[in-house]
Amino acid sequence: LDQIIEAEERIFLDRIPKSVALHQQASRSIPGGVASSWASSRPTPVWVSAGKGGYVWDVDDNKYVDFHAGYGANVVGHANPAVVAAVQNRVTLGTHFAQPTPDLIVVAEELASRFGLPQWRFSNSGSEATMDAVHLMRSISGKDLIIKIEGSYNGHHDSVLVSIFRSTSELGPENEPWRVPWSGVPQAIADLVRIVPYNDLVALERVLTEFKNEIAGMILEPMMMNAGIIAPQDNYLRGVREITAKHRVLLAFDEVKTGLVVHHGGATKLYGVTPDIICLAKALAGGVPCGAIGGTHEVMSAISDGRYNQVGTFNGNPLTMAAARAVLTQVMTPAVYDRANELGSYILSNALETLHRHGQSAYGFQAGFKVCVVFSDKPARNYRQFLNTSTGISHLHFLKQFNGGIFLPPWGKSESLTLSVAHTKADADIYIRNLIGFGEDLQSMGERAS
Ligand code: PMP
Repeated sequence: LDQIIEAEERIFLDRIPKSVALHQQASRSIPGGVASSWASSRPTPVWVSAGKGGYVWDVDDNKYVDFHAGYGANVVGHANPAVVAAVQNRVTLGTHFAQPTPDLIVVAEELASRFGLPQWRFSNSGSEATMDAVHLMRSISGKDLIIKIEGSYNGHHDSVLVSIFRSTSELGPENEPWRVPWSGVPQAIADLVRIVPYNDLVALERVLTEFKNEIAGMILEPMMMNAGIIAPQDNYLRGVREITAKHRVLLAFDEVKTGLVVHHGGATKLYGVTPDIICLAKALAGGVPCGAIGGTHEVMSAISDGRYNQVGTFNGNPLTMAAARAVLTQVMTPAVYDRANELGSYILSNALETLHRHGQSAYGFQAGFKVCVVFSDKPARNYRQFLNTSTGISHLHFLKQFNGGIFLPPWGKSESLTLSVAHTKADADIYIRNLIGFGEDLQSMGERAS
């Protein structure tokens, strides 16, 4: 496996000499040569020059079908004409006032009708949205502890940078998991978190009972999306809703990845379970940085009456709101989700059929614009189970797809692919064709995912 990976990495690097040179130059003034460490990937970051519809071009002028979608932000397709027009019109009228502009109301009303929560505020990223969610839960309840899911990534602020991207041995005993802080986060902050496994109502009930009257709320990505995709088991989300309500604990859905992507009304509408708070970002403004936080009247009254000041110089920035308005009202209509489900299920069924035909273990999941193929025969129910998936085979898959003209998100094991409204069956067929080559490689060396 190592030899095949090495050979594919050589092909990868030979295709992109300008990216390699830019990376070397950038590394002198930019740590790691990238703007965010999530863009730092093996064998080297790929520098992109342009995107149009379902495609991106790198600086060496190679064209790719883009299923990376900027980590799931670009479901409208690159340079979508409606988003381009909205941003172009707005940019000539001034880009920043820190005063409200009328697009705010359109965006808030549209989100309220899609997600079923009546009031919305804005931020610039998913991390800011989940940070506001945690602040709100603590501010309203007057309590300090929060519950989060083991292994789940909820953004890069202190409260939630706990027990993520760790090996099983670093996570501690299964029934009494450690609270492992991210580098730079004090253990004292991590100790304000109670960790529970995903898809486990018994553990949730146990923690809520043990820490009765100490817990402000729970933050939960309704479909876990940094571990391939782990879908909620039947009645898990409903159970979480009932148990948190019974214990009078607020529930926040982190829909930064799922919102607007898996369904017109996010995982909230897909599964028919409404939390007290919803966090959005990524796909919301078609690639323009934007986050949002929605809440019930009870929750959001903490903002209106000043108990919690939800703030940010660029919140509701006019460019961002113009882009979000175009995304919501002109592009992401209910019909595009039907098309996405059709294309997504075509990809998933053909991918699994191809892999199984080549003797490879694989399972997968699809909802709206998200498709995920995991190289393992045992569908994971939680993060610890997912850690058994082979990192090497997932990386080889990323390389084979890249060298065959499909841009997937790096960190192959953790991520899923994201479609856009611009993708076609012909794009999907390139992905499947590459999978055949991948399956043949694995088959020829007798390598098999566990
Ligand atoms: N929550 C989830 C579920 C995410 O996947 C991410 C980003 N990958 C975030 C929060 C943080 O979003 P951002 O990177 O925009 O701060």
